[in-house]
Amino acid sequence: MHKIDIDLIEMTLDVMKYVIGRVSEIEHPIGKPKKYEELKALVGDTVTPKGVGGEYAFDLWKEHLSKANVPVDHPRNLAFVPASPTRAAIMFDLITSASSIHGAYWMEGAGGIFCENEAMKWIVSLTGLPEGAFGVFTSGGTAANLSGIVTAREYWRRNDAFKGEKGLIITSIGAHSSIKAMAKVADVDILLVESEEKLSASALQKAIDGLTDHQRKRLFAVVATGGTTNAGIIDDLSGIADVCEAQNLWMHVDAAYGGGALAADSVRHLFNGIERADSITIDPHKWMFSPYDCGAIIYKNPELAKEAHSQEGSYLEIFKDEGAHGFNPTDYQIQLTRRVRGLPLWFSLATHGTDRYKEAVERGIELAKIAGKLIGERPYVELVREPSLSCVLYRRIGWNPEDYTHWTYKNHGKGFALVTPTKWKKGADFETVSRFCFINPDTTQKDIELILDSMA
Ligand SMILES: *Cc1c(COP(=O)(O)O)cnc(C)c1O
Repeated sequence: MHKIDIDLIEMTLDVMKYVIGRVSEIEHPIGKPKKYEELKALVGDTVTPKGVGGEYAFDLWKEHLSKANVPVDHPRNLAFVPASPTRAAIMFDLITSASSIHGAYWMEGAGGIFCENEAMKWIVSLTGLPEGAFGVFTSGGTAANLSGIVTAREYWRRNDAFKGEKGLIITSIGAHSSIKAMAKVADVDILLVESEEKLSASALQKAIDGLTDHQRKRLFAVVATGGTTNAGIIDDLSGIADVCEAQNLWMHVDAAYGGGALAADSVRHLFNGIERADSITIDPHKWMFSPYDCGAIIYKNPELAKEAHSQEGSYLEIFKDEGAHGFNPTDYQIQLTRRVRGLPLWFSLATHGTDRYKEAVERGIELAKIAGKLIGERPYVELVREPSLSCVLYRRIGWNPEDYTHWTYKNHGKGFALVTPTKWKKGADFETVSRFCFINPDTTQKDIELILDSMA
């Protein structure tokens, strides 16, 4: 064996040791960012003509750089939408990398894509969409929303009457920021219904009735949210489906965060109507315990996505050949070359079974209820609204916005917890409040008590 191979094996073992340490730890430090200058001073130049060597670079990672991250899977990281990938999924993420699978075409990635599709079948089954509905894994919710809306727009523009028109979509201010971002990319206008509470059929109808004739002509889609990122609110999907059907509009449901809760029997009824959507976004990297990054876009009629996204090129012809019979994920979303990012999810589902997923999601919902109860028991805090899915909005009575910020940094600085403030609409204004989002089933009641106690 050449020397280089022995080095390679040693390095591989070192990396594996690190990974084993990381996934077997019950609790790792909560982590804290450092300024660029500080990191540069600690690490120096690493990308040089001769390189600094793998061992040295890995030491820098372990010693300094890994500690400047804030891992999302810490049980007291309740900020934004945290995550907590299963150990099984993390292990298969390593295998995904090691296997060099090109996930665009069946011809090259049949085995990996087969696994992805088995996982996707389960996700699609949770939505209740009719036979024929199917989806693909994307880099995240933003890419999924973009793929869905471009499909809707292309479908709408099949009609000659709309060819020269700029499209318009309606959503509510509770919708995720990526909806606005993706409307910009797709060059469509967006009309926001001014409520962060549940978007109702009547509010949607009112917004449509308020359009000018030309705006109505340009309107092609409605984006409903299946679990708002800020508060876990699920729009009236059934009512919205009625309006979309009557008005001949594409219904997209953004359930990037909330989609995992489709597996939870206790709240599944809140999503009724989702089975009538034309497209749905769900992020397995949020509440389906996948590592970053893994989103999904699902279509009632995948053929429409294919018309919108299929890429053509002389060098790509071969993939459409007999030998390449099978499902080509590239045809259904914006990306060509892609990682088989659904593969870790497949292994985790196969390892644990879907019942465990149900239980883990129910635990997040239960933690939100527990937090609601603990808040009720403490005189210095109160709920802003009842917990919804796994989101809890609450206020510390008497605090101003700076108090929340100071408290967040203090707890984070101590390596104790990361809980960030948000804003909630109060009349014409926005109030700064505190927010929990529970994803990690390892979070305990004690964790929540300690966090609330730190506000006393
Ligand atoms: C997080 C989120 C997104 C964006 O998803 P990314 O995976 O971060 O791109 C979109 N919509 C909702 C409702 C979300 O919660």
